[in-house]
Amino acid sequence: MTDASNLHIAVIGAGPSGYAAAFLAADLGMKVTLIDPELNPGGVCLYRGCIPSKALLHVAKLIDESRYAKNWGIEYADPRIDLARLRSWKEGVVKKLTGGLGVLSKQRKVEYIQGRAAFENSNTLRVSRTDGTEDSLTFDRIILATGSRPAIIPSLKLETPRMMDSTSALDLSDVPGSLLVVGGGYIGLELGTVYAALGAKVSVVEMLPGLLPGADRDLVLPLHKRMEKIFDSILLNTTVGGVKEEANGIRVTFDGSEVKEREMLFDKVLVSVGRKPNSEIPGLEKTQVKIGPRGFIQVNKQLQTDDPAIYAIGDVVGEPMLAHKASHEGRTAVEAIAGHKVAFEPNAIPAVVFTDPEIAWCGLTETQAQKENREIKVAKFPWGASGRAITLDRPEGMTKLIVDPQTERVLGVGIVGAGAGELIAEGVLAIEMGALVKDVALTIHPHPTLSETVMESAEVFFGTSTHVYRPKRP
Ligand SMILES: Cc1cc2nc3c(=O)[nH]c(=O)nc-3n(C[C@H](O)[C@H](O)[C@H](O)COP(=O)(O)OP(=O)(O)OC[C@H]3O[C@@H](n4cnc5c(N)ncnc54)[C@H](O)[C@@H]3O)c2cc1C
Repeated sequence: MTDASNLHIAVIGAGPSGYAAAFLAADLGMKVTLIDPELNPGGVCLYRGCIPSKALLHVAKLIDESRYAKNWGIEYADPRIDLARLRSWKEGVVKKLTGGLGVLSKQRKVEYIQGRAAFENSNTLRVSRTDGTEDSLTFDRIILATGSRPAIIPSLKLETPRMMDSTSALDLSDVPGSLLVVGGGYIGLELGTVYAALGAKVSVVEMLPGLLPGADRDLVLPLHKRMEKIFDSILLNTTVGGVKEEANGIRVTFDGSEVKEREMLFDKVLVSVGRKPNSEIPGLEKTQVKIGPRGFIQVNKQLQTDDPAIYAIGDVVGEPMLAHKASHEGRTAVEAIAGHKVAFEPNAIPAVVFTDPEIAWCGLTETQAQKENREIKVAKFPWGASGRAITLDRPEGMTKLIVDPQTERVLGVGIVGAGAGELIAEGVLAIEMGALVKDVALTIHPHPTLSETVMESAEVFFGTSTHVYRPKRP
């Protein structure tokens, strides 16, 4: 095994993968240099991704619930929104968390360089600090954690503040009267939800036949129904042909067989059509690192690139581009560098869409099983039969288990409903532990909670769920 304490490693990029890697490396006794343009670690996730979007979604949920409260005998006046204060609260959340990471970095004696790195060779970096100074630094190993950025469609590129990507949308400079979200993926739907709650008339356009392509349709359906109420329109099977700025907004042309209005005018347009890996790192051609067809850096299961001195982790190495996948890869890479026998081969990486209702899934999906022609059994528990869901007035949810019919092992879990993002962790644990459906059914869950829906979906598998009546076959 390598003596980790002799190693000096550099981590380029301080997002969730980079700072997780840097911190573990320091915990294992390595000398660590972490390089990123921001003042503190955090990357996209903390500065312009997961965290600011969730802070704003929390506010959106509050606004939405205050409107629903009418049904329970409580009526609130329409909210008055102080945008400057909302912005400063969101920025405060980001500052608190990134500042905390700065402290954790100092406590671990990680050398944090605010700047950018370029390669001189496989072991040497040219580091340009934001204060204007530059240095050539040599390391035993280098970890690339440079993340990703919003993808751009050339025909939708207009240099005007009326056109936004996820980063500028999170800046919340104003609430437009009307907003078109291009792309029905999770980022577009989450940000659309925020703007709709703040008062914008939001439309979503998606070129495929459904929102959230890739997620099982039965999970998406309750969300789609709710979104039809909060959004002005959802245009499916529709593409944006072009955009043109006019005095009063952006004129958008739509193409597709279901298009009713070929042209519409919006105050603002948010383009959210996926993300691209930041693999164009200056000087990378001086190393042996190889880049795959979609721009992702190629790595093995130890996250080592084709250059033995260089590892790569997070969004820059591939899907799913999610923070929790990124940080686990970061930890695996560092353990591999330390000489531990490790591989990144998870059975389940959870995906969560933080809309209302939330959608979460992990492991095998029904869509994937169908594609692979794989035999599965599916057990679904409707939240209309959950005491907790009824007390919350959220009966539209559903929990399902995807099970191997031969071994009765849980292969996948899907949940739609309030708080699905918290509930899915139990599914991940079940899959990683190789749980049988019986294990889940026999695990006593607290009452009344939404977590019981996981246990009862396992009971549904055996046809013995307490709260679901299944008539006996004659
Ligand atoms: C709006 C939005 C919402 C999201 N919500 C979620 C969510 O709820 N849950 C979830 O799991 N994921 C979410 N994501 C995705 C998540 O942010 C990413 O998966 C995650 O940040 C990837 O981490 P990373 O470490 O790979 O890179 P990043 O977080 O992208 O960080 C990379 C860092 O490297 C720096 N860098 C790049 N090149 C260089 C260089 N040459 N030198 C020095 N530094 C460099 C960049 O400036 C950046 O700071 C969201 C993303 C967006 C945009």
